[in-house]
Amino acid sequence: VDEIVRSISTCQRCPLAKTRVRAVPGQGPVPAGLMLIGEAPGRSEDELGQPFSGAAGRVLDSMLEAAGLSRDRVYITSVIKCRPPKNRNPSKEEVAACAIHLQRQIERLQPRIIVLMGNVALKALVDHSLTIGTTRGKILRNDGLLYLPVYHPAAVLYNRTLANQLRDDFMLLAHLVADPQSGE
Ligand code: SF4
Repeated sequence: VDEIVRSISTCQRCPLAKTRVRAVPGQGPVPAGLMLIGEAPGRSEDELGQPFSGAAGRVLDSMLEAAGLSRDRVYITSVIKCRPPKNRNPSKEEVAACAIHLQRQIERLQPRIIVLMGNVALKALVDHSLTIGTTRGKILRNDGLLYLPVYHPAAVLYNRTLANQLRDDFMLLAHLVADPQSGE
């Protein structure tokens, strides 16, 4: 992973390289049975170089805790490794340019379960026509992997209904982690 981290930290494959403070490759054990993939770094992540280090990260930590999991047991990263200015959505071109890094991480980490946090991750990894609102909490299978789409933690910050749904989906994740066959 060191080589992958290095290649992300110095990557110039898209224009976000010019506006980032730091690239955010990801964090967690290698290999990792469980991988969580978000959208892109925000301001805090850009400054610290660590994934989910701001308000959305605190939501994520509370969800992991509710599911009996912790950060040191999961690998956390995002589809895009550099912050889009003003936190705009990443463009199709940026997602395409960055895909090679995520692909290499998945090959290296060999996860059994991937949690897709938000539309950008769901569309980039499974199917562009799917949306998180209709797919969340449903286990998808692709190439021998189990995918669980959930809302992005930033989306539930000020919405109690979505926060409850995210918590439900992390409880489902806890069952999946305990017994991956339950998703098959
Ligand atoms: S967003 Fe991805 S492709 Fe673009 S510069 Fe950063 S690491 Fe490279």
